[in-house]
Amino acid sequence: MHTPTPKDLDKEIGAWADRMRAIVDGRPLAASVSGGKDSTAMALLLKEAGLPYVAYHCDTGWEHEETAAYVRDYLPSVIGPIEILPSDKGLAERAIHKGIWPSRRIRWCTDELKLKPAKRFLGAFDSEPISVVGIRALESATRAKYPEWERSSLFDCEVWRPLLRWSFDDVIAMHTRHGVLPNPLYLRGATRVGCWPCVYAKKSEIRLIADIDPARIDRLRILESEVEDARRAKVAAKGEKLIPGTGGVGFFRHRNGRPWPIDKVVEWSRTSYGGKQVELFAPAESDAGCMRWGLCETVERDGDAPWLSVDQGAPREEKSSPTDPVEDERGGELAPTGEPS
Ligand code: SF4
Repeated sequence: MHTPTPKDLDKEIGAWADRMRAIVDGRPLAASVSGGKDSTAMALLLKEAGLPYVAYHCDTGWEHEETAAYVRDYLPSVIGPIEILPSDKGLAERAIHKGIWPSRRIRWCTDELKLKPAKRFLGAFDSEPISVVGIRALESATRAKYPEWERSSLFDCEVWRPLLRWSFDDVIAMHTRHGVLPNPLYLRGATRVGCWPCVYAKKSEIRLIADIDPARIDRLRILESEVEDARRAKVAAKGEKLIPGTGGVGFFRHRNGRPWPIDKVVEWSRTSYGGKQVELFAPAESDAGCMRWGLCETVERDGDAPWLSVDQGAPREEKSSPTDPVEDERGGELAPTGEPS
């Protein structure tokens, strides 16, 4: 039985809630809340259906302060208490401690800041819970293949994705239906409001952060140096030598594995290549990451900025630059020019 969408809720919510209550069969529902629109809509649905749940949020220490305030101060007033799962070190502190940022190859952020805390939280229930997540099939071909119900060997419990068939408009309608304000970052143009930024940020997301939160870029620039210093100190402490081409300053790593310093990434984010938008850092479909289990705000397509305010001005005229990506003659793989040494 598919979850009714907001336009059908008035007539179907009762029958749906009865049916789900029978399936849930007394098991506790643990709702993952990211501070994004999908998980908020999901919690509102559970609340409207009268299905009791415990909401939780994995705190990476790397969210924008408005997301942190939204989760801690605003959302509990509309969806009820939220258990914040802290980590002893946030993403930046861990990167300095390790001397390395997370990357596609070594994505320790997902594991240490999302999956492990969630696994501990879900494992602490007296009886096996159901993990409820706000993933929607329309967001990507990969997510379209996820079932609504799935046994997770990782969490050792069932995962339920009640919004799987909902559209973007359904999610907005659910906020409107309950008079719930969105995370304020959406109103400033963000399409994703989790880690700020995610190591997989899209070009448009990086450009937006540079535009509306230049202090974050400044902080990243300093952190990049600190992480690189830590990496060099670790290598030196082991009596080893740096292998040329293996490191360098950069929160973002190009898909070819090389780090790019934040200023170069921001410069690139303001360019277009022959009018084409090329993603160098965004996830491939296979990089489900923490998105699979609904622990992060999921990636939206460009142009899906939900609550764009009308006063944001005309779209920027994009310029090309020498740092535009170029096509690799060997097979169309995209590679950047002017790589940092
Ligand atoms: S949102 Fe991105 S940076 Fe944050 S934990 Fe997930 S993969 Fe890592």
